[in-house]
Amino acid sequence: MTPCAARTFAAALVFTGAAASQPLPPRAPNDLYSPPSKPEGADEDRRACLARLTALGVEYESLTRHEEGACVIDAPIRLEAVAASRGAGTPITFPQRPMIECRLAERLADWLRDAVAPLFQAEFGAALTSVVTGPGYECRRRNRAPDAKMSAHALGLALDISAFKLSNRRSVYADEPDDQRSKNLFDVVRRTACGWFTTVLGPGSPDGFHEDHLHVDLQPHGSRDSYRICQ
Ligand SMILES: [Zn+2]
Repeated sequence: MTPCAARTFAAALVFTGAAASQPLPPRAPNDLYSPPSKPEGADEDRRACLARLTALGVEYESLTRHEEGACVIDAPIRLEAVAASRGAGTPITFPQRPMIECRLAERLADWLRDAVAPLFQAEFGAALTSVVTGPGYECRRRNRAPDAKMSAHALGLALDISAFKLSNRRSVYADEPDDQRSKNLFDVVRRTACGWFTTVLGPGSPDGFHEDHLHVDLQPHGSRDSYRICQ
C-alpha cells in the first residue's frame, strides 16, 4: 500500500468510526417536522365549539391541543355518544371513543340525528344504538402512501365507519351488508353523508382503499374549498 493509499484508508476508518458513534436519524417527510403555529382565536373557537357540542347533547371527553409534527388538532375530543333525537332518547354510542376535532363531532351529531337514525328507524323499525369506527386521528399521509398529501385523519377531521348497530340486534356492515335491504339502506346512508361532509369514500370508490369502511371527512378541497368528493 502506498503512503497516499494508507492515508486514505486511515481517513476512511476514522470517518466510519464517527458515523457509527453518531448515527443519523432516519429520514422523514419534511412536513412532519414543521408544526403549524396555533392560529389566533383558537382558544375562543375551541370553547365555542365545545359549548355547541354540549347543547347538541354530545357526550365527549375534552382533550388539550394535540401536536405531533405537522399532525395537529386545535380542539380534540374523544367522542362517546351523540343524541339520537332532539327530544329524550337513548344516545348513539361510539365504543371505540375516536379522537377527532370538535367540528367533526358536531357535524357527525347532526348527520346521525337528522339523517341516519331516522332512516334506520323507518326501514327497520329499530333505533340506531352504536356506530363502530376506527380511531379517528392518525398521524399519517393519505392511504399511507409515502409521497401523498397529509391525510384528513392527521388533523382529526376524518372518521372511518365500519358498521351501524341497531336496537333489534341487527348490524349493518360497510363491507358486506347481510341482505339486499341492508345494502340498499347503507347506500342511501352513504349518499346522505355527501350533504354533511366534504369527502365521502367507501367500498367501490376508485382508489380501492375503502373496501371495508365508510370514510367521511371535513377537509377543504381546492384553494377556495370549491368542490366535494362523493364517491
Ligand atoms: Zn379514512
